[in-house]
Amino acid sequence: MIWEKSSHYLLPKFGFAFGCSCSILQLRHSKYFRGSPLTWEETKKWAEHVKTNGIQQFINLYKRLQHRQGDCLKWGDEVEYIIVRFDHSSKNTSVSLRANEVLPILRQPENDHPESVKSLWRPEYASYMVEGTPGKPYGALPAHLNIVEANMTARRKEAQQQLPLDETVLSIANFPRLGCPGFTYPVFNPKPESSVSRSLFFPDEAIFQGHPRFTTLTRNIRSRRGSKIDIQVPIFKDVNTPSPFIEEGVDEQKPDHIYMDAMGFGMGCCCLQVTFQACNISEARTLYDNLAPLCPIMLALTAATPFFRGHIADVDCRWNVISGSVDCRQPSERERIRKSRYDSIDSYLSEDGAEFNDIPIVYEEEHYKALLEGGIDPLLAQHVAHLFIRDPVSLFSEKIHQDNLKDSDHFENIQSTNWQTMRFKPPPPESSIGWRVEFRPCEVQLTDFENAAVVCFIVLLTRVVLSYKLCFLMPMSKVDENMARAQKKNAVLDEKFWFRNDIRNKDKKEYSLMTVSEIINGKDDFPGLISLIQTYLNSMDVDADSQCTLQKYLCLISKRARGELDTAAKWLRDFATSHPGYKKDSVITEEINYDLMCRISSLPVDPCPNLLGTLYGSKTTEDVPDILTK
Ligand code: ADP
Ligand code: MG
Ligand code: MG
Repeated sequence: MIWEKSSHYLLPKFGFAFGCSCSILQLRHSKYFRGSPLTWEETKKWAEHVKTNGIQQFINLYKRLQHRQGDCLKWGDEVEYIIVRFDHSSKNTSVSLRANEVLPILRQPENDHPESVKSLWRPEYASYMVEGTPGKPYGALPAHLNIVEANMTARRKEAQQQLPLDETVLSIANFPRLGCPGFTYPVFNPKPESSVSRSLFFPDEAIFQGHPRFTTLTRNIRSRRGSKIDIQVPIFKDVNTPSPFIEEGVDEQKPDHIYMDAMGFGMGCCCLQVTFQACNISEARTLYDNLAPLCPIMLALTAATPFFRGHIADVDCRWNVISGSVDCRQPSERERIRKSRYDSIDSYLSEDGAEFNDIPIVYEEEHYKALLEGGIDPLLAQHVAHLFIRDPVSLFSEKIHQDNLKDSDHFENIQSTNWQTMRFKPPPPESSIGWRVEFRPCEVQLTDFENAAVVCFIVLLTRVVLSYKLCFLMPMSKVDENMARAQKKNAVLDEKFWFRNDIRNKDKKEYSLMTVSEIINGKDDFPGLISLIQTYLNSMDVDADSQCTLQKYLCLISKRARGELDTAAKWLRDFATSHPGYKKDSVITEEINYDLMCRISSLPVDPCPNLLGTLYGSKTTEDVPDILTK
């Protein structure tokens, strides 16, 4: 059953417009600039130019804005969705390549009256994806936490209303059969000889075609790397899984691995992100640092990606897959530069964090020196210089020459293609926006309820960190270890993570291995994050209704950490492996996938207790409070 039948399905059809540059986006963000994209060979010639000027732009921006004070807390979430098409007669599902058609419609209200919309819509990597954010960032009132879920539900409905009856927008981290034959609607065949990715599985048409950014990135990353993308995820070995598991005709596959060879396998996954505005740069640096050790913990708690390319994997998360999907390093660079440009952060930014920077931070001496000479302190200089070890992989000829006093596009070019667990965002030029940090590790959850719970939990954590001056800092190498553990199957229950023994005293620097539940729910004299949040909430004036909502969210997080509720990954795994059609061979068949997509669609009206407990209320979605639009 499809959850929500659209009442607008009789809207005129726009048809699928591939390769056309529709009216879509007058997006102000420089990453969506429309122009003539350069090939890697051309971009390469300008790489040093982009970097030298990008660094200069950061220096100028820093000089202008380092003393900016008094910005208030603002924050907002980003949810990515996949458009799924159901063929009920044959029980098949596919991803519908409709983003380029529906985005202009979804964005019309923003174009007409940008000040009063409930949601903003943006393109994402794939032509079967859309990204939605609240119409305006939320503010510091506890009541704002109480409208997150309703806003997410309204957003989902807005997108749903633009789709035909047999399509549904789902917040799934990955489409389980992504890359299987005929996985798109309309069907397109991969062209390994000529496509931008050269993929055996992922056709170019599945890359968003309404803006040149995405195909350009795909082509240039592959060109820079010198070979196509190579992702190998260990397969989950069931009793009937061939051993070794080898796919015929796929020479590149490592035995017992699921092989993927395109940027789309990673960037075509969905995540959940939260951005915070700090009151000044120093608070932003403190938040950036203290949220970093929480990234692996939140990744384990939000794990939602156990399937890739029609197979059950032995991991629960998408992180390493995305990391591999944009790994533009040449073989000779891989020893010196240890991570992909999509990976966990390498250094802390605050003075307290400095002593925990224990992994090598690679940068060009000249860049670092320029930043120091520009008046940037060593910690921030090393952070920026480290971002700038990456070459630009998307450059428009119109954007080569810029005014470094006014523009920041070269800086943004490198910054926005360093996709890390945390992002430190300076204020954009000529805007009222302050210093921000973005929390980026989480996998998108299947329901608005869970997504809201995760988002509110993180927002509350930032308040607790700042109010009680908590300290989560520990050696960065330990955070990296935690990142690797977080992605393992059932990590939330089976793994232990390095965490500080005393988060209330920054002078006590011991840390030990804890379970996610110990970190979240506490043990012995370690209070647990939830009890700190409860103390904080009790000290605040929170209205009864918001309090009730937040208690449900905290309960979900707490129970999930304890294993009393499933992560999406576990729930998805269990659904597949207990499906009558499952042959214990690690394969997600069309039939299993169809039933699974149907079940996910029905979750809002038929919630599953293993996933959501009995917490999930049936609040009406009709009347989203308009605090946002006022
Ligand atoms: P990205 O750089 O990831 O594309 P955006 O800058 O477009 O992200 O916005 C991401 C999120 O930041 C959205 O949820 C939005 O509501 C929120 N946001 C917008 N303005 C602010 C602000 N001044 N402070 C904090 N968050 C903001
Ligand atoms: Mg996004
Ligand atoms: Mg983002």
